Amino acid sequence: MNNLINLTIDGKKIQAEKGKNLVDVAKDNGVDIPTLCYFKSINPTLGTCRICTVKLNGRYTTSCTTHVTEGMDIEVNTPELLDNRKAIIEMLYAEGNHFCPTCEKSGNCEMQSHAYNMGLTVTRYPHAFSEKTIDFAPERMIMESNRCILCKRCVEEIKTKDGKSVFSFIKRGVNTRVQIDYKEERKLSEEEALHAMDICPVGAILIKGIANEKPFGERKYDFLNKNVHTSLNNNKIELKEGEKFVVATTSLAGCFGCHMSLLDIDTDLIDMLEIVEFNKSPLTDIKNFSKQCHVGLIEGGCANDENVHVLKDFREKCDILISFGECAIMGGIPAMRNFVPLQECLEEAYLNGLTSELGADIIPAHEDIPKLLDNVYPCNEVVKIDYYIPGCPPNAQHIWKVVKSILLGEEIPIAHDEFKYD
Ligand code: SF4
Ligand code: SF4
Repeated sequence: MNNLINLTIDGKKIQAEKGKNLVDVAKDNGVDIPTLCYFKSINPTLGTCRICTVKLNGRYTTSCTTHVTEGMDIEVNTPELLDNRKAIIEMLYAEGNHFCPTCEKSGNCEMQSHAYNMGLTVTRYPHAFSEKTIDFAPERMIMESNRCILCKRCVEEIKTKDGKSVFSFIKRGVNTRVQIDYKEERKLSEEEALHAMDICPVGAILIKGIANEKPFGERKYDFLNKNVHTSLNNNKIELKEGEKFVVATTSLAGCFGCHMSLLDIDTDLIDMLEIVEFNKSPLTDIKNFSKQCHVGLIEGGCANDENVHVLKDFREKCDILISFGECAIMGGIPAMRNFVPLQECLEEAYLNGLTSELGADIIPAHEDIPKLLDNVYPCNEVVKIDYYIPGCPPNAQHIWKVVKSILLGEEIPIAHDEFKYD
């Protein structure tokens, strides 16, 4: 064993086989370095996603392209590196169309799993709402380029028996996408096609007619994710004698499912009402704020000018603002209209849709009707949001646990099954 070398990872002295890949060395020693493009059988490694960036002897480098040598000093989990990693995942979420509640890969998705482990609730970057063509033309596959993270795994790994590539990168810069060679795709066996879907770390490659047999909660990464511990970082709200916490709620462009979930907290509602009074809310039918509120809960994103007005009013009248549910956090299902020009949406809804009356020629535009925005926007792209409760809808008990902890200024551990985008 004279090919052993000495190195340190996050200050811990370890020995490893000389030349072994740093991602594997770290894993063997209990340090998890997240990756999306790294795949054992692909050699040389790709180094495309950059999530595994660490500091090697003080300089940034990707772990998956590093082979260990004597004396290396590796930093993996410093606050700066953890934040850089999280920022890259956030950029990928903002750049593509990642609607986890409607995605076939949800629960089996490597990127989603990393996001859960990093405690990611929202992206700090504005969503681009990508408009790349979804290719349904291949015989068995669908290429959903709006979810592709350009990791290059499929390009390098999937070949026909006669060595031909099935996937390739085309175009350049922000227009780069993966193209499927239809002729070569037909040569793949069923098993090889499924392998292509499996190695894609996101839900970009899909096989037609393959439904996910496993329900949510029993999929690949549902068992692997750790608990997310979060510090709510807020100060305790001071109340005067006999005073209750004042909470307001509203639903913007949402389906009211998050409010239904709020009501689902059952007997905890009694606990809630002992310490909370509701002000403006569909739950009380109070239409206007009568006082400043401690907390405002926002369901739904901003689809029209009235949503923007209500949201800004909530920001002003509520000391702490919480986005709850996927529509408030990233636009959700209503934001799926963002890929279609607004005029086309209106024409489909009022003139050409299956339910439109024959000969319909009016798109309603009365001044009392709220004007639709060009896109549906997540709330944090309109006002400052203090906290996020993900889910579609978020778990009922979880909503109350988070709201209560914010009101009481407590730090809470969040279990993975309470913290779901799907
Ligand atoms: S499950 Fe994965 S690929 Fe699908 S939308 Fe979510 S992050 Fe994107
Ligand atoms: S289709 Fe999937 S495997 Fe291929 S480059 Fe995109 S994300 Fe990677």
